[in-house]
Amino acid sequence: MKPVTSYPSKISTQDFKLVENSYPKESLGKEDVYFSRKYEILESEQGKAQPMPDNNQINWQKNLTSEGACSCRVLQASEQERLQTIALLDDFNTAIAKGELKVYLQPQVTIADNKIIGAEALVRWLHPRFGLLAPGAFLPTIEKYGKIGALSLWLLHECMLLSRSQMQPQKIRISINLSMLDLESPSFPQQVEILLKQTGAQATELCMEITESSAMHNPEQCLASMLRLRQMGFTLSIDDFGTGYSSLSYLSRMPVNELKIDRSFITQLHDSKQRDIVKAIVQLGLTLKLRLVAEGVEDSTVCDFLEGLGCHEMQGYLIAKPMPAVDFFVWLNACSGCWQDLPQN
Ligand code: C2E
Ligand code: CA
Ligand code: CA
Repeated sequence: MKPVTSYPSKISTQDFKLVENSYPKESLGKEDVYFSRKYEILESEQGKAQPMPDNNQINWQKNLTSEGACSCRVLQASEQERLQTIALLDDFNTAIAKGELKVYLQPQVTIADNKIIGAEALVRWLHPRFGLLAPGAFLPTIEKYGKIGALSLWLLHECMLLSRSQMQPQKIRISINLSMLDLESPSFPQQVEILLKQTGAQATELCMEITESSAMHNPEQCLASMLRLRQMGFTLSIDDFGTGYSSLSYLSRMPVNELKIDRSFITQLHDSKQRDIVKAIVQLGLTLKLRLVAEGVEDSTVCDFLEGLGCHEMQGYLIAKPMPAVDFFVWLNACSGCWQDLPQN
């Protein structure tokens, strides 16, 4: 790796100064690799790294010469990806122990009477350098490199404690996103059982959201885990129903109680085809006696449409965005169980 001594024309002096202030992530001999300012801004403002229009603008390698002068070099796309992955995995190893992962909760309400009856737990990573990261910025890497199990068990433990600490009569169900890889691990149900005992939480007050994905290598083991979790009393939900890999054969085999209608349908209801699809999904769910939850509800016309179809519950920015767990329970208290009782609604 030979450092170049002149800056490529696309980077301003200002950019370079900020590159200098970033942190070394991997040492390659005497040279330290730095993430560029652009990368950090994209991470912190939008919650995820985005492909840059031009590779020349993203990663830099800085070479500290004996005089302390700087020079830099453009990294190739593949190198850049590899380094980002290394950095993320490396940081993730200590993220749980350092308390950097945060549980956010987003309310779920009944459509017929606006009662807050549940919340979905959504993870965030308060990264020391990149700021608050949305799951899309790190989960795919964590999952790909086999670290999702640690995250899921941590999340389950946190959610069980939250569930346990609630008081009747306003107790709500908490839904947790799981990876198919969790279900493929034969020891997963047993680990969940241990967590239940440790925390004193009730499985019947927790729901597990599962998305079928290409990552599924052992469907039989997944099915066995799901059956065991159902026996333990958990509610099981198929997330993102109607997209990607979820299929009718999946639905017929899995011991699920709930269907979550994917946000991509709900946000496109101005299109008559999308409306027909949502109608069909609701019909299917009702026929199979499943609870139907629509996600991504952003306005009241969508809510009225869903009510007309007989959809049971909804979740979305119309009610509230995901909030840190502490804020969520303050919000819940202020609502006294019904989201339309809030002064701002
Ligand atoms: P998801 O399970 O489909 O979660 C719903 C996503 O939609 C969340 O994004 C939520 O913030 C967003 N959302 C909710 N209502 C609205 C709305 O009205 N409008 C719009 N535009 N968006 C809305 P988020 O938190 O970024 O999560 C993205 C995905 O990451 C989740 O999709 C889920 O698949 C995954 N995920 C999140 N937390 C976890 C976790 O703890 N474990 C696992 N395995 N996956 C997780
Ligand atoms: Ca979900
Ligand atoms: Ca979903």
